[in-house]
Amino acid sequence: MARTDWNLHARSRVCRGCGAAFADGDCVRTGVLPFSNPLVSELFAEKLAEEAAAAAAGQPVKPHPEWARLDFCQECWKAKSGAAKWTSAWKSPYAAPPPPAEDPLAKASPETLLRSLVEGDEPEQHLQAIYLLAVMLERKRVLVERATRFAADGSVVRIYEHRRSGDILMVTDPHMTDGEIPEAQAEIERLLGLRPSVESVAAVSVI
Ligand SMILES: [Zn+2]
Repeated sequence: MARTDWNLHARSRVCRGCGAAFADGDCVRTGVLPFSNPLVSELFAEKLAEEAAAAAAGQPVKPHPEWARLDFCQECWKAKSGAAKWTSAWKSPYAAPPPPAEDPLAKASPETLLRSLVEGDEPEQHLQAIYLLAVMLERKRVLVERATRFAADGSVVRIYEHRRSGDILMVTDPHMTDGEIPEAQAEIERLLGLRPSVESVAAVSVI
């Protein structure tokens, strides 16, 4: 039995309110809420019930993300947005996702490395590299910072959106000292440089 998966960082292809599919160029209204918000419980009631049943049957259940990202069409945003105090909200034009790359290794780049680190099994082992990559990609205008928030433990979390795909990334600011930056840069170079080898691919892209 598959684990219940909560990928709430990617832009949805359909409106969370009415289920209508987004088309190229549609204005998508996006909001971020703590997962515990009642609107999240309402919109995902069916999935939460399935999860509770799975947990009761002793099946492993993936932990919930701390935040949920919700995408709406204009009409549903007007109808639902007033009901919640949003952590962050913005609008952006929908762009249909490009076809998946045939050979992900041929496309190894700071962008694919950042994604594999964030989605990997041990993102907490790479907080500094993740943060530096995000800053680098923001400077290249690949990512745009949408908000800065405090996590439950008081750490600063930056919410970035990928300009083209609309995916969001929650990046914890590791508050690096000047002395730690070269070390993190060296880690990035090592991960990028070693990517073609079998071991490093196993290390960074186990998802
Ligand atoms: Zn809708």
